Amino acid sequence: MIPEVARAEGALLHLADGRILIDGISSWWVTTHGHCHPRIAAAIAEQAGRLDQLIFSGYTHAPAETVARGLIDLAPRAENRDPLAHVFFSDSGSTAVEVALKMALGTWHNRALDGLGPPRSRVLVLEHSYHGDTIGAMSIGERGVYNRAWAPLLFDVGTIPFPVAGKEQATLDGLEAACAAPETPACFIVEPLILGAGGMLVYPPAVLRDMAAICARHDVLFIADEVMTGWGRTGTLFACEQAGIVPDIMAVAKGITGGAIPLAATLANGRIFDAHKSQHRSRLFYHSSSYTANPIACAAAVANLAIWREEDVRGRIATLAEGIAQRMSELARHPAFAHPRQCGTIAAIDLITPDAGYLSDLAPRLRAFFQERGLLLRPLGNTIYLMPPYCLTAEQLDGIFAALIAAGDRFG
Ligand code: PLP
Repeated sequence: MIPEVARAEGALLHLADGRILIDGISSWWVTTHGHCHPRIAAAIAEQAGRLDQLIFSGYTHAPAETVARGLIDLAPRAENRDPLAHVFFSDSGSTAVEVALKMALGTWHNRALDGLGPPRSRVLVLEHSYHGDTIGAMSIGERGVYNRAWAPLLFDVGTIPFPVAGKEQATLDGLEAACAAPETPACFIVEPLILGAGGMLVYPPAVLRDMAAICARHDVLFIADEVMTGWGRTGTLFACEQAGIVPDIMAVAKGITGGAIPLAATLANGRIFDAHKSQHRSRLFYHSSSYTANPIACAAAVANLAIWREEDVRGRIATLAEGIAQRMSELARHPAFAHPRQCGTIAAIDLITPDAGYLSDLAPRLRAFFQERGLLLRPLGNTIYLMPPYCLTAEQLDGIFAALIAAGDRFG
């Protein structure tokens, strides 16, 4: 039976049958501050009675303007780097990524119209990546069981090896070679510091910095997909900050509204914007959607930005990350587990089992096991990961780790 959730508050889901679950993955990594944060709920209610929806073409509204300015202020920045000074709204992480790809190829297309070199269409990606489930996003993600049926719809990409610890140079050499190839790529897209659905695989900020530098040297546009890593997940507001880099294009979603309602944004620098700014209608950036910058969603994002400004979110993140680190080091000693890893408030560990494939029934059995112990977790194959809301208490964290130890005893 699929559990019916009647209501939620903070880190807790209240089921219709009276049971309570700790939401250990923030309902697919979105409810950063916990469920039903009162300020976000109030902002949504207020906006719903004022201006619910507006065509976002030729018209604008205050919540969208405030969010756009807020995103520009908060975006990673560095001296001598073109800042992310332009914002394009959409409504999901996948769409924010599609928009990023369209901006990158559109830039080279329009530059070619101006006689500034050939158009470029090749996209470079990092092995094991996940960027969403729309056609473009699937094309740039790891190929496998989740997208095999649609392979005829997907475009070819250049895949750079994942920076496995100790073999990072292979990644950098591969990227260098791909950028220097006769067909210069349009862009390289990465999940900064940690690959999510591809297995919660971490790599160091120095590698991220070196990858961005290679792209800059070859004038290949660097796209950061901060859909999962944004909004404090990796310990800083955006993961790129830890490498001191400013991407040319950055996709954000999930926690932009504190996870209460769909909204996404793609930020771009002046060069991308200018390539599409023209009196020529053929060069405009063509992407529209009914709900672009929906006012209710933008009002939730305005409340989220206020929470980041006025509450001690960074303190909560530091406390949670520290609490996870302490407990992970104990869990790592359990003989059933291997390969513990953590990036801010994201932690993962692999269950040692021959039953490890994505198609085995291990993950559903683990899911049911955790649910019986009052916990929502959703392992990826034999990888068990946590991505809890920042309001999680130490007691709730203890409860999560007690369930992880029990899973090790039972399944290891
Ligand atoms: N990019 C990354 C890195 C993600 O983790 C996800 C979703 O988990 C997406 C894109 C797609 O976001 P959405 O599910 O909102 O379409």
